[in-house]
Amino acid sequence: MDSFRSLVPVRGTKELFAAFGLGCVAGVGALLAALAVQGHRVSSFNWALDWLRSHLPRGSTCLPWPGDWLLPFPDPIWSGCGLSRLEVELFGRQVVLPKLGAAGQKKLMQGGILVVGAGGLGCPVALYLCAAGVGRLGIVDGDTVALSNLHRQIGHSWQNLGESKACSLRRACLSINKTSSVEAYSFRLESVEQAAELMQGYNVVVDCTDAPFSRYLLSDAAIASGRPLVAASAVGLSGQLAVYNFEDGPCLRCAFPTFPGSEEASEPVASCEENGVLGPIVGTVGSLAALEAIKVLAKGTGLHASCLRGRLLLFDALDAAQPFRSLRIRRHPDCVGCSLRSARNPPGLPPRGCPAGLPGSDLVGLQAEELQVRLRAGRPTLLLDVRQPAHFSVAQLKGAHNWPLPELSRTSAEELFRKTSSLESDCKGAGASEEPTQVVCICRRGVDSLRATLLLRQAGVEALNLEGGLLALARVAQEAGFALPALT
Ligand SMILES: [Zn+2]
Repeated sequence: MDSFRSLVPVRGTKELFAAFGLGCVAGVGALLAALAVQGHRVSSFNWALDWLRSHLPRGSTCLPWPGDWLLPFPDPIWSGCGLSRLEVELFGRQVVLPKLGAAGQKKLMQGGILVVGAGGLGCPVALYLCAAGVGRLGIVDGDTVALSNLHRQIGHSWQNLGESKACSLRRACLSINKTSSVEAYSFRLESVEQAAELMQGYNVVVDCTDAPFSRYLLSDAAIASGRPLVAASAVGLSGQLAVYNFEDGPCLRCAFPTFPGSEEASEPVASCEENGVLGPIVGTVGSLAALEAIKVLAKGTGLHASCLRGRLLLFDALDAAQPFRSLRIRRHPDCVGCSLRSARNPPGLPPRGCPAGLPGSDLVGLQAEELQVRLRAGRPTLLLDVRQPAHFSVAQLKGAHNWPLPELSRTSAEELFRKTSSLESDCKGAGASEEPTQVVCICRRGVDSLRATLLLRQAGVEALNLEGGLLALARVAQEAGFALPALT
């Protein structure tokens, strides 16, 4: 906009101001209105606005919003683009992009995007989409803001602790662009039908959740509602991004027919809580997800044609030579997800909190209270801590052995049995007891250790899983008035 001032010289406006002799805000407002009514050029208008800004208290964010900002832009460069003066001011820097243009901008302003998840990914997605002028945004999240979120969830602040994440992010979005309509949905999506109904009100859906249950639910609901789904995920120092169910492209189940963490899957579920994540990682993947959502929404533009349909983008922050790779994914002819396009019976979803619902999981659990009693009584117990070595080194139960789950998963059944038997006899030797040693798998929350327990049982080891993990054990010890005696 700076160029307009040089294009159109100011003539007489300052003198006009001096004549008016107005020193108060109300007077300037009246002058602005008068200038607008008389059809003054934009330079006069901008000069008056600058004068007003410079005379407002320092740090004030007050900006006049005269009604005529809604009129078409008076400068010949922008006349005919169909955008109002305010819209040109707000979005002009992206409208001049040939691949977007005014036509693409109007698509964004007329469209709606549903962002599911207001966490590390959802924050940059919603903020960028709102700033870009997407007309309607919906933000879904049933969680509240916690201190542990703030290092990566940049839409929330210290002042929002305890507040609904959806409401907090909505406010952050509107503080950037007041012209968008932003709706906060402070609940979890529990069923495909519920999610599909909500999606009907929007053109594009962005999956910013971090649980297998939600990811498969959203994919199925996107097919049921006929909406394209931008699916982002990030954990540790890597991330993934794809656009599913777009113009007859593949769905999530085409690319990943097996639920992560299920019995058939080769890898355990990775979560930010267990594996950690850096803020810029979710920031990077979230920004790319916002870009894909803009591409999908801006139909008929050069951007639209370049979206990640049928491709899976992989980001690895540790690979300096090739941090980004893109793999082709195809529609699977027997995909149960894609069958929703013709049939209305949703396929099964992974259980919430996966893989706690693995078959047999209810038979191998050991309550934290039972382990507490067992340890205090000094009964022979082999504690197998399956967390990462870095987490184990921070705090562990006294006498526990660290056997990280990825390593344990790769060990053959014979070797599992042999190594566990060897560790058991070490325990027995130390305790000098006739009682058989009980093997107990532990981790932070009891999820990874359940998987380890089932693997050991398949190898013939009568292992038990500490339900709720070390967190539950610490809680029990606290409630009973003890310090956790065995935690070193
Ligand atoms: Zn499919």
